[in-house]
Order: sequence, then C-alpha cells, then structure tokens
Amino acid sequence: MKTTGPSVDALRNISGKYNYGKCEICDAKMVEKLIKQDFWIGGKLVVIDNVPAGVCSLCGAKVVRSEIGKRLATILKSPTKWLNASHMSVPVVELRP
Ligand SMILES: [Zn+2]
Repeated sequence: MKTTGPSVDALRNISGKYNYGKCEICDAKMVEKLIKQDFWIGGKLVVIDNVPAGVCSLCGAKVVRSEIGKRLATILKSPTKWLNASHMSVPVVELRP
C-alpha cells in the first residue's frame, strides 16, 4: 500500500470527498472505500478495519492519503494499544510442492 504525498491533499474537491486520482498501474479511477488493511508486525498479523482508502476499480490497487498513513503508523507503533482489540482467526494453508 502506498501513501500519497502532501501535494495530493490539494486535490480535495468541494464536496469534501477526497480525490485519489487515477491508478498508476492501469490508469483507472480510484474509488474511496473503507477497507481492512493487514500489516505484519514482528511476525504478527494485525488488521486495521475501517481504513478509508482509494481502491482501483480495475486492479484493486490501494492508496491511503498521508494523514491516514500517519495515523496507521501511530497505531502500529504502539502494540500495547491493541492488546484488547478484537481477534479474528484466519485459515493458514501450506503450499506443498
Ligand atoms: Zn489499477
């Protein structure tokens, strides 16, 4: 996931909706969605829910704006803050030759 630079903040339009611009891979329009974003921190999988992100309608590439990226970084830097967070179990499947 990439973080957009401060220059993109200038693209915010009058409706208050953030303009994520176009996907840099396939040039399709980025649509804002609330996503679950996964992070691997020291061998542990952490999922942050309700992250506003621009998602490419074609290839699914994701970008978050810089202010959101900073908030995510702050959360991820303080593991004690999510000790009491809810947990979900995920299937772990081994790829066998
Ligand atoms: Zn794309």
